[in-house]
Amino acid sequence: MGRKFFTVSFDDGTEQDVRLVALMEKYGIRGTVNLSSGLFGQREEGVSRETTEALVDGTERRIRVCYDHNILPLEQAKELYSRDFIEIAGHGAHHMHQASLDREHLTDEIAGDAARLEEIFGRKVRGHVFPYGEYNEECLSVMEEAGLVYGRYVTSAGPEADFAFHAERGIIRPTCRMTDGFALPLLERFISAPCGDEDMVFYFWGHSFELDYGIDSASDAFLETLFRTAAEADGIEFVTNGELIDAAGIR
Ligand SMILES: [Zn+2]
Repeated sequence: MGRKFFTVSFDDGTEQDVRLVALMEKYGIRGTVNLSSGLFGQREEGVSRETTEALVDGTERRIRVCYDHNILPLEQAKELYSRDFIEIAGHGAHHMHQASLDREHLTDEIAGDAARLEEIFGRKVRGHVFPYGEYNEECLSVMEEAGLVYGRYVTSAGPEADFAFHAERGIIRPTCRMTDGFALPLLERFISAPCGDEDMVFYFWGHSFELDYGIDSASDAFLETLFRTAAEADGIEFVTNGELIDAAGIR
């Protein structure tokens, strides 16, 4: 009999993670934060840019958003992410476009980053999420060399997601992301779907600074509703990304 897993993955480690982690704690959600070891304390206030919001039916619209991208200082990060329901993974030491780096630089961005995060947090780092979702064959080989066993695409499977566990060479395909307006109906379909022989996964990812976009699908109220809906459902196992990899047995 297959099992149902729920996991979250959040990138960049900005100050809004304080609100995210409080909601995870309140509802018993487990997950992974993807951090850059060389950027603690970096501040970028009032970032204004165009991005995309997915509507309930899966169509997209362009929106202009404004938010602060202030990465938590090291001491605050150590305190916040020390909770046992949080796993630490790498996100590139300096959040660079890795597909254009030479081998030496790439090794430092991926393997060096993981080693520094392990030293800072005193925990094993097993995953690496490519900044901007960009990678090539060399990135995968450096990951493998560093003993990092999983990564994640920056995609969404859309409103028709099938909840199967999709991963190619350890790179996980998420179910949906925080700016997806269909995330809640999708979760409700996940909850009510009968569990067959195969494991089912609801993999939710995002950035906590998206909570400040001022759109319905990415707000504190929305995230709380999503987490509460999952927490109140029967038969869901809450896991970090690393625990999902172990449970689903992929490599
Ligand atoms: Zn990032």
